[in-house]
Amino acid sequence: MTPALPPARKRLGQHFLVDPNIVRKIVTLAELRPDETVFEIGPGRGILTRALCAEAKQVVAVELDVQLGEYLRETIGDCPNLDLRLGDALEFPYEELPEGTVVVANLPYYVSTPLLFKLLEARQKIDRMVLMLQTEVARRLVAQPGTEDYGILSVLTQYAAAAKLAFTVSANCFRPRPDVGSSVVSLALRRQPALVVQDEAWFVRTVRASFAHRRKTLANSLRDEGLTAEQIALALARAEIVPSRRAETLSIGEFATLSDALRSAAVDKGTA
Ligand code: SAM
Repeated sequence: MTPALPPARKRLGQHFLVDPNIVRKIVTLAELRPDETVFEIGPGRGILTRALCAEAKQVVAVELDVQLGEYLRETIGDCPNLDLRLGDALEFPYEELPEGTVVVANLPYYVSTPLLFKLLEARQKIDRMVLMLQTEVARRLVAQPGTEDYGILSVLTQYAAAAKLAFTVSANCFRPRPDVGSSVVSLALRRQPALVVQDEAWFVRTVRASFAHRRKTLANSLRDEGLTAEQIALALARAEIVPSRRAETLSIGEFATLSDALRSAAVDKGTA
């Protein structure tokens, strides 16, 4: 007998896909080979999981909701290539994944940004990702300098991956219907980053500090990094960036040059 469906918990971002065409489009976009491992965040009621298990060698799926975990065990738990884990994807030991893992997920929107940062951190293990996201977040991933959507997520994503907006998905394809738009993006992780930086930690720090106060000029935003106004001015001059510019106007290349220059300024001062 099929077990009763646990009620949807919106608090956990539970908007389940109910349209098999969208599931097919997502799986097609992932271009899975039979020797590949898939990592799925939030298998939910298993509609995508089932399709992934049919294409991949193994599917590692992590679900936070205990009741859904029990439901999945009873419905698709006997799938021989499914490795179902109960827990928080933010706490998952990503180092355990095999190299070349493909991430495919309809992400819980309430936690999608921290999950994206986690996945980018774990990118050594990941070959590519196909992700359903809130459209607003999807746009940020692919945004170009000088646009409102361009920010930390755009720079750190595009540094690590070639990102493409694949297609939008109607709210009618989910139950319950989400109040926001949904889009699927594909991310091909770069084996080598788009640009060379001396120190990635400094690059991330520079990008975060630059965007911390969007309305301020770069010279003012960077003050929080513990450098003096003179050191910031010197680093901006070395990077050939006018101090009155704002973070949203800088290309990823300019962030890379600036991060190297700031790091040198901090090393000179002994604070790196
Ligand atoms: N994959 C299913 C589908 O497409 O129908 C469900 C997608 S639903 C948008 C998001 C799923 O992520 C839910 O099952 C929810 O319980 C789960 N979830 C929420 N927060 C999570 C977390 N921190 N770690 C793992 N799963 C989580």
